[in-house]
Amino acid sequence: MKLRPTRRPLGLRARLTLSYALFFALLLLGVGWLFRQTLRNIQLRDAEALVAQDWAAAKGHLAIRKNTIYWTHDREDQEVERVIKNLQTVFLLAESDGHPLLMSESYRSLAVEESEVLQWLNASTPQDRLRRGRDGVLYLVRSGPHLADQQRYVLSIGRSLEANERVLSQFTQTYFTGIPLMLLGVAGLGWLMAGRALAPVKDVARAAGALSGENLGVRLAKRGAADELDELVSAFNNMADRLESSFTQVRQFSVDASHELRTPLTAVRSQLEVALITAKTPEQYREAIMTAIEDVEQLSLVVKALLHLAQAESGQVVLTREPVAMRELVGRVAEQFQFPAEAEGIHLETELEDCTVVGDRVQLQRMISNLLSNALKYTARQGGVTVTLRRSEGGSVDLSVSDTGVGIAAEHIPHIFDRFYRVHEASRSGERGLGLGLSFVSWIAKVHAARIAVSSEPGRGTRFTISFPAPDPSLLAQQQQQQAGADSAAATARMYSGKEWDSQLPAASGKELSSTTSPDAS
Ligand code: ADP
Repeated sequence: MKLRPTRRPLGLRARLTLSYALFFALLLLGVGWLFRQTLRNIQLRDAEALVAQDWAAAKGHLAIRKNTIYWTHDREDQEVERVIKNLQTVFLLAESDGHPLLMSESYRSLAVEESEVLQWLNASTPQDRLRRGRDGVLYLVRSGPHLADQQRYVLSIGRSLEANERVLSQFTQTYFTGIPLMLLGVAGLGWLMAGRALAPVKDVARAAGALSGENLGVRLAKRGAADELDELVSAFNNMADRLESSFTQVRQFSVDASHELRTPLTAVRSQLEVALITAKTPEQYREAIMTAIEDVEQLSLVVKALLHLAQAESGQVVLTREPVAMRELVGRVAEQFQFPAEAEGIHLETELEDCTVVGDRVQLQRMISNLLSNALKYTARQGGVTVTLRRSEGGSVDLSVSDTGVGIAAEHIPHIFDRFYRVHEASRSGERGLGLGLSFVSWIAKVHAARIAVSSEPGRGTRFTISFPAPDPSLLAQQQQQQAGADSAAATARMYSGKEWDSQLPAASGKELSSTTSPDAS
């Protein structure tokens, strides 16, 4: 099979230059044609005026008596003498039967038919015509009747337009032969301009080509023109910024995750090694294996939570979007934490207004659960935890969880939503958290377009406030319709049917409670 050579399409620069040159070619041709027409019309008008002058002079000074032709003018007047002489260059005087009485040599070359001459005899006004003679010269000829000696004659006077035609053809020649040269200049200029205009695009392409995992610092300088190309440059720079921060996050995450997994793994290994050397009785082996299992459980908690967080952040978790009655949801979660709170001697109270948030019920429940779990974990016995739900004046819904616990120092607050970041290495119960609970809270807030505010005073307590945007009224109307018609029992059943919901329920023992820190701790 014969391969056809692939034709490389013209580059943008060449195409821009070509369009530019084409546009100019059309423009130059148009302008040239317009100039030529205007010049021709001016010349014609001038020639008509001159012929009209000749016509008037002939009429005034031509006399015929008894078939004899006289020119009645002052022979001393040089100017009139010249006019009369000139007008006789292309001249015809014919009798009423068309027979010429007087005809100049140049007029003869016009080859005017007798029948045509007879038409002029009865014309009311003289007529101007353009005629080309046998010598190839163009003439403007004025013809009409002439009354003399009580008889009708035909008078016809012409003027050569040779000089006019020469000027016109010279203009045409000069202008139209100059067009290719002008086009060459225009194309050159277009090529330079297109090159300049496209330079930033090339820079972006080059920079994008140079951008890699190892080279993320590539940025482009703006030209300061505040135009579309500057917009492209800043879009590229923003993209590179985002890529760099994602890469840094991923790298940091790998470091943190391996560190996080290495510690329990080392612990398990050393426990088993020690047991291998020192354990004598089956009970001692059993005890060592049990401790190892606990550590492995902790490990699998970390891995599960990490997997879930990675899935969530990469958009693999399918979220629903429905109006959620927050008062009921927060009330129920708080109720489930009531028992463990009492067991710790913590006073858990709620102040809840009727509010609706549009979002994913399961994730919202997970967020409340994580915040409450943290509040209980980091609050001393006899302390207090308060959950409030309010609708602000602007329509947004504010959920806050405050405690009278250990608090967080100001320098840690910007980092507590990072993965594995722990301010306190252990909670009140001595358990070490996974350091992932608030990362989930942050992701859930983000997908609900909610803002998180943290205020804390070490030793006095912490308050987390999540502000959800005002719900879309059309969705609320939909909810009201549903409430009116649908069976609310089915909705309640759905709320409780999810596996994830069950997994969030706090258990009575301190150890199990700590595992609910992570939404995936079950
Ligand atoms: P952890 O599993 O360690 O609780 P989180 O991501 O939920 O992880 O929280 C990160 C860190 O923020 C915790 O280790 C803790 O030091 C701090 N923190 C979170 N909530 C509170 C709170 N209510 N009071 C004091 N410190 C808190």
